[in-house]
Order: sequence, then C-alpha cells, then structure tokens
Amino acid sequence: MFLVIGLLIALGLAAFVAMPLLSPESAASPSLPVDVTPLADLKRRRLVVYENLKDLEFEYQAGKIASQDYQSLRQNYLGEAATLMAASQEAEQQKETDALLEREITARRAMRRIPPPQDYTCPHCGFENPVPVKFCGECGTRIIH
Ligand SMILES: [Zn+2]
Repeated sequence: MFLVIGLLIALGLAAFVAMPLLSPESAASPSLPVDVTPLADLKRRRLVVYENLKDLEFEYQAGKIASQDYQSLRQNYLGEAATLMAASQEAEQQKETDALLEREITARRAMRRIPPPQDYTCPHCGFENPVPVKFCGECGTRIIH
C-alpha cells in the first residue's frame, strides 16, 4: 500500500515537473494566424525573395559565389519577385474590384429601401390618393402626373 502511494506521488511529481516543459512546446507550435490574407502572404513571400537577393549579393561581394552562379541565381530570384509582384497587383486589383462591387451593392440596396416618391396628393383638397390616379378619389380634381 505504501509502495502504491509512493508510486502515485512520484508519478504526480513527474507529471508536475514535466508539465511546464511540455506546454510551452505545444503552445509554440507554428500555426498561421487566421487573418493572413493572400495579399499579405504574397507580400511576405516577396520580402523573403528580396532577403535572399540581399544575401546573394552579400555572398557574391564576399567572393563566396562564382559570377556565373550569382548571375543565374539572381535571375531566378528576380523572376520570382516579378511573379510575386504581378500576383500581388492582381490580388490588389481584385480587392479594389471587390470593394467597388460592395459599394455598388450597398448603394443599390439603399436605393431599393427608399421607395420612389409617389405623390398623388390632390392639389385641390389635399387628399393623399394611395394609388396612381388621374383624378382625385375624394373630389375628382384632375391630378396631372
Ligand atoms: Zn381632391
């Protein structure tokens, strides 16, 4: 009995000690933020390419890379940067188009909410005819519309 209790305490202690060691690892597991947009992702990738270009330039200046390798790697990076740039611009335009559409839809909804002015009020007696009429339903005065 004493042995079992001792074992349980030992296990409990082990878990207690191990817990803080394990939890930061699980908390630090890489997960993409939910609000990462395709545009932000493209921008980040472009920055990485520029970063690589800078490194390449540095290594070339330091004489670590042969001129031929440098040229071809540089072309690769520049090509990638151009592709990412074009994709970004496309995404940006898409975003603007979306915003424009959104505004138009909102404007149309607002227009639909407000009914067109319907004024069939009789100029003679002031009766507000509920439907389009040529003659006032109350006094028979001609209503010109
Ligand atoms: Zn009238």
